[in-house]
Amino acid sequence: LTFTQSVPPPADVAIVGFGWAGSIVAAELARHGHDVVVFERGPAFASTSCGHIHEPGNERWTRSRVQRVERETYTLRYDLKNDALPLRRLEVFLAGEGVGGAGILWGGLAARYNPAAFKPLSVYSEQLAAHDPSLEGVRLSDWPISYDDLESGYTRFELTAGVAGDSAGNPFAGRRSADYPIEYLESNEPEVLRDALRTAGLHPYRLPSAEITVPYTNPDGITREPCDAIGSTIATPLNTTIPAALRSGRVTVACDCSVRRICQDKGVVNGLVYTGPDGVYREYAVARIVLACWTLSNTRLLLLSGIGQPYNPARDTGVVGRNYANHILAESTLYWDRKRRGGAPFDSGWQVSDFDPLISSASDGPIGGVQISSTPPGNLGFRSRFSLPHGSPRWGYDFKKTLAKYASSYLKITALGEVVPMRDRYMDLDPIYKDAWGDPLLRITFDWRENERRLVAEAGGRLERALMNVGADVVNAATTLPRHWDTTQYQSSHASGGTMMGDDPGTSVVDPDLQCWTARNLWIVGASVFPTNPAPNPTATVAALSYRLADTLHRAIL
Ligand SMILES: Cc1cc2nc3c(=O)[nH]c(=O)nc-3n(C[C@H](O)[C@H](O)[C@H](O)COP(=O)(O)OP(=O)(O)OC[C@H]3O[C@@H](n4cnc5c(N)ncnc54)[C@H](O)[C@@H]3O)c2cc1C
Repeated sequence: LTFTQSVPPPADVAIVGFGWAGSIVAAELARHGHDVVVFERGPAFASTSCGHIHEPGNERWTRSRVQRVERETYTLRYDLKNDALPLRRLEVFLAGEGVGGAGILWGGLAARYNPAAFKPLSVYSEQLAAHDPSLEGVRLSDWPISYDDLESGYTRFELTAGVAGDSAGNPFAGRRSADYPIEYLESNEPEVLRDALRTAGLHPYRLPSAEITVPYTNPDGITREPCDAIGSTIATPLNTTIPAALRSGRVTVACDCSVRRICQDKGVVNGLVYTGPDGVYREYAVARIVLACWTLSNTRLLLLSGIGQPYNPARDTGVVGRNYANHILAESTLYWDRKRRGGAPFDSGWQVSDFDPLISSASDGPIGGVQISSTPPGNLGFRSRFSLPHGSPRWGYDFKKTLAKYASSYLKITALGEVVPMRDRYMDLDPIYKDAWGDPLLRITFDWRENERRLVAEAGGRLERALMNVGADVVNAATTLPRHWDTTQYQSSHASGGTMMGDDPGTSVVDPDLQCWTARNLWIVGASVFPTNPAPNPTATVAALSYRLADTLHRAIL
């Protein structure tokens, strides 16, 4: 695999960012015979035999693949009244940097959205009609596309990445044109957690995952073997889409090249400006550009380039930066006494969609859905912090005794909660702080609101009731959020919005085919185009959108 660091050759399409989104579009365009240049701000990494995450507790390894905040970071403020301050260390979310993007950091949870997730206006119509003051400023819009528009993209991603799952397991799922390439067979053996969730009236199913324990050859003929050290391997762009793109001979990757501006003439893009590894600014002329540089960079590049009107929450005008949302990650824990109950009496790997996209059907309930998963230990790596049962001693002999009792006999159950867009949660350019090149940083204005607090309380209460008879010594359900969005605690890297898609140029940045309304021949892909941020992990949907965009671009070039 070769990566260029010289001036890239002419191409039909330039792509900014080489994570899952950029590499899928590049590989698909190359397959159709188009020449592509990818600009990636970070370096090239070699693929490891088992993907990334199995460097247990190796924070240094992970950090070397994360955006270098000394060059570019984000500023955060909790509300419109306060000044924002720069994040000096990324903790609350991680942004990938380098070939493979955050795709070499991800945990491989690869859920499709349920069809109802694309129609939040109708799903939450009763709560919206109740006009609860805590919902003032909620900004919901239906997606301009449906589950059916993405179905073939979901399937192509599952085949390429080799996703394992139970095709018939989730009763709330949409139709499938193909089963998962690796099927989980339902076992008749008793499984404590699954059976308890069923007894509580829920519908657990095996969580779909791109981390597999059997060899798999994808439709591109690329084989992934389980790694010897840990017995599994996770799909990343480096072991799937990037080799497919590069071996075509039609894709050139310009590493360490950070795109600074998108250029346009009379509403049509005609090139971009980037800084290369030597720090020199260069122009690159090209007729079509795809932004695939994740939610925050997609939005910032538009703002820096003066494309589209920046969103202004006070006047409620403009579109770029609007509808910022992320996820709530509320971790509950089951503890058991190892001496009494043995190794691992509770099975992990189950997921529940009963509350996705609606945690409460009461008209005065919170708005939003929750996906509940018992992820395999280590899935969140160092980002999932071990904590003792509530009320445990905090020091001394008793503390040590409790630690010894529970340190290796606990199971985390995560509730991934939808955060709905609100009028005053958004992104714009910071008026004070700048990056290493002197360009304004992206400013995020965000904090938890009453709706998220009610969502977590509702989800935690339901989980607690469901797990009451599971047989654990202690069940600590997460029912509260800290006073503010705590930037020292990992909360998922699932930011969305900023360049949302829609049918109306007055409220959206890109059309349903992801082409920018105000700069033609500029397409944007990634979670930045999501109008809302449904509860499940986003990457399968990002990938499905990328396959759909590649088809659109192929037709546009012909
Ligand atoms: C620790 C972790 C665990 C996760 N686990 C899951 C999971 O289990 N399931 C799930 O669905 N999702 C998960 N995610 C989220 C998932 O990784 C992202 O949704 C996905 O990688 C996004 O793909 P992308 O291609 O849109 O962006 P990215 O992968 O972020 O790629 C964007 C690329 O653009 C480059 N770039 C940015 N700005 C510029 C610029 N100006 N010029 C040139 N290049 C630029 C970046 O360097 C980067 O390589 C996880 C994320 C993290 C960090």
